Amino acid sequence: MTDRETLDFDDPMQRPRFTGLATFFRLPYREDFEADPPRIGVCGVPYDGGVTNRPGPRHGPREVRNQSSLMRRVNQATGVNPFQATTVADIGDAWIRKPYELVGAHQEIEDYFQRVKAAGIRALTCGGDHSVTLPILRALAAGGPPLGMIHIDAHVDTGDNYLGSRFHHGAPFKIAVDEGLLDPKKVVQIGIRGALYQRDSSKFSFESGMRVMMIEEVEERGWRACIDEACEIVGEMPIYVSFDIDCLDPAYAPGTGTPEAGGLTMREAQGMIRRLKGLDIRGADMVEVSPPFDVGGITALNGATVMYELLCVMAE
Ligand code: MN
Ligand code: MN
Repeated sequence: MTDRETLDFDDPMQRPRFTGLATFFRLPYREDFEADPPRIGVCGVPYDGGVTNRPGPRHGPREVRNQSSLMRRVNQATGVNPFQATTVADIGDAWIRKPYELVGAHQEIEDYFQRVKAAGIRALTCGGDHSVTLPILRALAAGGPPLGMIHIDAHVDTGDNYLGSRFHHGAPFKIAVDEGLLDPKKVVQIGIRGALYQRDSSKFSFESGMRVMMIEEVEERGWRACIDEACEIVGEMPIYVSFDIDCLDPAYAPGTGTPEAGGLTMREAQGMIRRLKGLDIRGADMVEVSPPFDVGGITALNGATVMYELLCVMAE
């Protein structure tokens, strides 16, 4: 048996990347993270009780961990080695003891992230469906001013009642604004597209003052101008970054519950995340990878790559 705590993760000669148990980026696995808290904790929320169509993101963390073993150490574009710049560990999963009751499950997720926050750890989370971002925000924003947010997604996720519930993956950010967790004037939503139930389905985003950048605007102005404006809007305030894998074109992310044609390329997404350098990122997530609908692991690999890019900007 190899002692993972003493393993030199920088040395591929010590251990081939395809061996052993899969953790995020082959990091040490520390479920008891309070004992030795890292600055950044990478974790999973294997829960998809909030999906409105195709299910499966409960399997996301395990498969993204698997694909993340393909990640190496140094970001070739920025020169950053996040594992050297700060302390990072895989802090396990916020797994649900009673998964059949969504509001209770959200409470369990919030409890986990309160523990993470109390330990002084900034969390980089792998979903799970997008409903899990609400309990994360509840834990992060508790007892403080509302956060800003950069939200990259095909959907605004500011819906309301759907089939008798407000708590699903199409509504976390309306509830977060209603509860004072997010300052809507410091929320930027990028990559929005797809057909709507009604013409005004996204009205909460617009009426509350969020800056909504449709995919057509990204196409016309270019992703660089869009993300630069997003960074200007949030400025130096504490923010959360939420990346729904369905912001990518289905060519890059077929394994997701609500794919929308005509999306971002992976290269655009990588470029946008790299430009978040220097922002006060209090937490970030990558959600909605659904391995049962994936093809050859492409969605999970892109999800792992997005998390790596987020880790790099959080570590700097
Ligand atoms: Mn979405
Ligand atoms: Mn979403």
